[in-house]
Amino acid sequence: MSDASASPPAFWAARAWVGDGIVDRVRVTAAPDGTITSVVTGVDAATDDIRLSGVVYPGAVNAHSHAFHRLLRGRTHDGGGSFWTWRELMYREAGRLEPESYERVATAVYAEMVASGFTSVAEFHYAHHRPDGARYAEPHAMERALARAAVAAGIRLTLLDTCYLAGGFGVELSPEQARFGDGSVGSWLERSSRLRESMADEFDPRFVTVAAALHSVRAVPVAALSVVASELDPTIPLHMHVSEQPAENEDCVRATGLTPVGLLQRAGLLSPRFSAVHATHLSDDDVELLGASGTTVVMCPTTEADLGDGIGPARALRDAGAVIALGTDQHAVVDPLLETRALEHGERLGSGRRGRFSPGELMQAMTSGGSASVGRQTGSLAAGQPLDLIEVDPRSARTAGSDPGQLMLTGTASDVATVVVAGRVVARDGRHATLGDTGSLLQRAMDEMS
Ligand SMILES: [Zn+2]
Repeated sequence: MSDASASPPAFWAARAWVGDGIVDRVRVTAAPDGTITSVVTGVDAATDDIRLSGVVYPGAVNAHSHAFHRLLRGRTHDGGGSFWTWRELMYREAGRLEPESYERVATAVYAEMVASGFTSVAEFHYAHHRPDGARYAEPHAMERALARAAVAAGIRLTLLDTCYLAGGFGVELSPEQARFGDGSVGSWLERSSRLRESMADEFDPRFVTVAAALHSVRAVPVAALSVVASELDPTIPLHMHVSEQPAENEDCVRATGLTPVGLLQRAGLLSPRFSAVHATHLSDDDVELLGASGTTVVMCPTTEADLGDGIGPARALRDAGAVIALGTDQHAVVDPLLETRALEHGERLGSGRRGRFSPGELMQAMTSGGSASVGRQTGSLAAGQPLDLIEVDPRSARTAGSDPGQLMLTGTASDVATVVVAGRVVARDGRHATLGDTGSLLQRAMDEMS
């Protein structure tokens, strides 16, 4: 780690996305805490500047992650199946995690994330307790493992401490869900509040904060939803999986007479602090409710394709007033440029039209659209913002000839040349600055699990 009292080096970019488009010859300086102090365009580099000859974008925000799902990548394609059969495999991995092994896995996953261009992540975390549901002697052992992993990888973490109380409408938790549960909404609120306090004591809030999540309408009983709406501090970001699968909607309508979004509206949960993850299968009324409340909708297009979820109505949601953010969820793909492209491609496949989102809207979805979800200002190069940026190579086999403002439609994480968090270079050419080769790191963490 560098001397925290010294200002980071200044960065000079040949071209950078500033405001709503690309500008030339940009110099960015920052204070010792990594906050941008100036962005000047049309200037030459000073002698000691770090020169970035590619195209600089703000750091990408990953607004939905389950770090351990990375263990399933490339192992779930035999024999077909559905979201629900994939979930059985996921439960098997969840059952094997312990604090030490989870810290190793999450460190490697966050290192992969940073090297691919994500500078912030919202971790939707529900494996709180021992596999049989008993408490760890250190009550926040799993949560601290994730926080230490994020610090080692240099990514900004918003840990979403998740409430998970039921196995379905009127259904108890199954044995493989036992470690997710806190017993009651009151116990979850209490544990979550203690966690928030102890993490604030232990970790730098520029890098680790604790927010909240409700797993889904399947996992949080109706009565608990209004308790959360009235008792959880309204400044804390709150996430929830919403309408990922048609079966969830059908169960919800059968049990409550309302769609999941209708139920959340009635409970008073929809607001700008709320992030609805997926929102794939929505009625026109659902779209209006999410838009009118200023909710952020976190789409995870590569996961939704991988699991066969479907294509969510992203354009309609944005037109109705919702903010669009992106997440890599189960990490079949960890690549901010591909995730952003998949958002546009889903719309094209669904509508038969091109250019459904402008490059500026796609840039927002990749960056600042995730600000409310992670509960911090991020995703733009401007004074007062954190100095988090990525440099994309515009001269690779994939990107040569592309308009510099459209590299999210041609590049991949392989083209991310430099990643900067809080004014410090954390990765170059896919290699993590302190942890080295991320492939080897992932392989080692997985070998140690078996
Ligand atoms: Zn998820």
